[in-house]
Amino acid sequence: MSQVVDDIKPSYPLFRQEEYTDTLKNKQELFEEKVPQDKIEATFQWTTTEEYKEINFNREALTVNPAKACQPLGSVLCALGFEKTLPYVHGSQGCVAYFRTYFNRHFKEPVACVSDSMTEDAAVFGGQKNMFDGLENAKALYKPEMIAVSTTCMAEVIGDDLNAFIGNAKKEGHIEQDFPTPFAHTPSFVGSHTTGWDNMFEGIQRYFTLNHMEDKEVGSNGKINIVPGFETYLGNYRVMKRMMEEMGVEYSLLCDPSEVLDTPADGEYRMFDGGTTIDEVKDAPNAIDTLFLQPWQSVKSRKFTKNTWKQPATDVQIPMGLEATDAFLMKVSELTGKPISESLTRERGILVDMMTDSHAWLHGKKFGLYGDADFVMGMAKFLMELGAEPTQILCNHANKRWKKAMEKVLSESPYGQNSEVHIGKDLWHFRSLMFTNKPDFMIGNSYGKFIQRDTLHKGKEHEVPLIRIGFPIFDRHHMHRDTTLGYEGAIYMLKTLVNSVLERLDEETRGMGTTDYNYDLVR
Ligand code: SF4
Repeated sequence: MSQVVDDIKPSYPLFRQEEYTDTLKNKQELFEEKVPQDKIEATFQWTTTEEYKEINFNREALTVNPAKACQPLGSVLCALGFEKTLPYVHGSQGCVAYFRTYFNRHFKEPVACVSDSMTEDAAVFGGQKNMFDGLENAKALYKPEMIAVSTTCMAEVIGDDLNAFIGNAKKEGHIEQDFPTPFAHTPSFVGSHTTGWDNMFEGIQRYFTLNHMEDKEVGSNGKINIVPGFETYLGNYRVMKRMMEEMGVEYSLLCDPSEVLDTPADGEYRMFDGGTTIDEVKDAPNAIDTLFLQPWQSVKSRKFTKNTWKQPATDVQIPMGLEATDAFLMKVSELTGKPISESLTRERGILVDMMTDSHAWLHGKKFGLYGDADFVMGMAKFLMELGAEPTQILCNHANKRWKKAMEKVLSESPYGQNSEVHIGKDLWHFRSLMFTNKPDFMIGNSYGKFIQRDTLHKGKEHEVPLIRIGFPIFDRHHMHRDTTLGYEGAIYMLKTLVNSVLERLDEETRGMGTTDYNYDLVR
């Protein structure tokens, strides 16, 4: 079983070797009371039926593969977007190991984030002492200029009070009084990673501006603020900056982790890189307006912007696809008085040209999709612009208001007439939908690959291939560098979608003398 140094094998070929397959077989037979294969197969077939779907959709007490992550994971991503900021999670170490691993595997980057390692004694007596030591050590060791604190479930269950604990840590001299420590309570038994992002962003707004509004005046700095929300496509931060620069718009991108999550391998490790500065946050209330790119997940921050910054926080939809990008840029132009640049008009024309070129391949194709509320709404709209049909739309962590809005969007297009929208459901529900009303493809994060495997197991004609767009994507490399917003993002998504269709076509027509119907490269 030992590896040979000149021929190291990764897990895939290694575990297919006889000694490993025999070990696994023995383990299953001798120790795991393995159910006979025919019983597994019969149960599998039953789980693909309409009858099972009904039982599955009546499930109440269990979530299977929820298509969401927990609150502090979102707050960590938010904190990473600010200059020299160390995300700090008050709670259990295991949770933070999970956040870091999740981001490592998605971004292929080290992710700096600390915890104050609460254990049994802290669970009984409270975690204040952990926070005293944690803040002091984290600041001394890693030399951040801001520490952004959130919580895990454990700290929330026992009711630890961040405001009091951080205040006491400062009073007792563990960190300086004026050291920036915004915070947010992020209990994971409610909400999701998007709620956590929103909570942390609002915490940062509150910390730096709530008691400093007297000298602020809306519009006085001539900028607009752009708030990305829980955004894991690094290209989306870059495309926003590019579009604003091409229009000559003064802007602040409030939260920008695109550098720290994409550092070069040049011999220097950067724990911090890039990010929105504290000065920009302090100046943000002076902007003309703040645009939230993912409004369905930014409820608290948007409310703060309206109530405290007294800005309109104008309603924009996520700028995905043609129409939503048009609307977004027109709104920016209206707010700032800057015309949409020729370069962007040209880019739009290229997108329209590409949409026309690919229309024949995408028209009528059916897609199931799952993910965050704003993403699936933007994606569904773009699919309909392409003449494709988003037949099943699932968002685990959206509310009834979102569902209604989504259904309205669908009802306004001929391509949305046969669509169904599900909230509060998980990927095991989605799996049932893939069997009982098969689309041509599904769009979502890496977890859909098991659904693809299951549909293929039922038979090639039942297979629903997964197109990976979303978060997390662990099993492909560097896709997080792509762009899904703006015309540039629509170009990328269109390319991905149409080439998936063409690849599938090849796959279905490469049988020698059987399905290779003609000699053209495109069947
Ligand atoms: S759900 Fe709670 S316990 Fe689980 S990783 Fe998130 S914070 Fe930790």
